[in-house]
Amino acid sequence: MPKAGIVTVVGKPNVGKSTLLNRIVGQKLSIVSPKPQSTRDRVVGIRSTADSQMVILDTPGLLNPKYPLQESMRSTALRALEDADVIVYVADATEGTPPSLAEAAGLKQPPRGVIVTALNKSDRLASTAKSELEARDFSLVSALTGEGVPELMARVEEQLPESPFLYPEDEISTQPMRFFVAEMVRETVLEQLHDEVPYSVAVQVEEYREERSPLYIRAVIYVERDSQKAIIIGSKGAQIRRIGESARGKIEAFVGTQVYLDLWVKVLANWRKNADSLSRFGYQLATGKSK
Ligand code: GDP
Ligand code: MG
Repeated sequence: MPKAGIVTVVGKPNVGKSTLLNRIVGQKLSIVSPKPQSTRDRVVGIRSTADSQMVILDTPGLLNPKYPLQESMRSTALRALEDADVIVYVADATEGTPPSLAEAAGLKQPPRGVIVTALNKSDRLASTAKSELEARDFSLVSALTGEGVPELMARVEEQLPESPFLYPEDEISTQPMRFFVAEMVRETVLEQLHDEVPYSVAVQVEEYREERSPLYIRAVIYVERDSQKAIIIGSKGAQIRRIGESARGKIEAFVGTQVYLDLWVKVLANWRKNADSLSRFGYQLATGKSK
């Protein structure tokens, strides 16, 4: 019997989740088409071997104490935790012993899945500190160098339930990439401007033309207010250019080809309060009828 299950990655901002995810799914990143059922669950990658399959989910913002999550986003993130067979709880090794996941995420009860705590950035530890943490059963990894990552994956794989593959290989489409591109642009905006535009940002890819070289992508960044639009554009367009450069780099690394990224900013007042626009951007409403 093969093993298969849902692996949810959770951790505070900046601990290295994205870097680790890139390493785990790497070049083999498989993309599930962004129909509502899958964006709801925020599948960020699928890692299949001959006899195991991990469907990897993300929990954006769940452990970010600075920005209380909007309700629908928190409930999406909590559901990703609930759904998990294995939870990879990523923390920064240089910050010492992390609080328990339940404590960090404010959970009323511990999640059902097995929690594997991965202490990342082990490359920044002295060897004595390393052996001390290893003795305490933490997985020490460096997403940057790759050290410890195969061992972490083996540990996760061990915990997967026996199950047929959740996504038959031939049903994993490699198209469309729009959802992932939109996520990369959104992530870039939040990286550069999270103090100014916390979660008021949504991104939609309106055009994706592979027949062009470079690949042409037109994406619209939606914000709620004119003032946010002005911040994103910046003085003489300097900010949007920086966002564009950084996001383009990520997208190029992801698609493996040169990209022309055409970014626009539009105001869509109160999109966060509007059920239609929430579902348009792939968020699941806690009480939505689509569930
Ligand atoms: P996220 O916010 O949890 O997704 O974190 P990121 O993946 O964006 O990483 C945050 C920062 O930590 C980036 O500057 C990374 O280059 C850096 N980083 C990630 N993993 C490692 C690691 O294993 N070692 C070191 N030294 N830095 C890392
Ligand atoms: Mg990240």
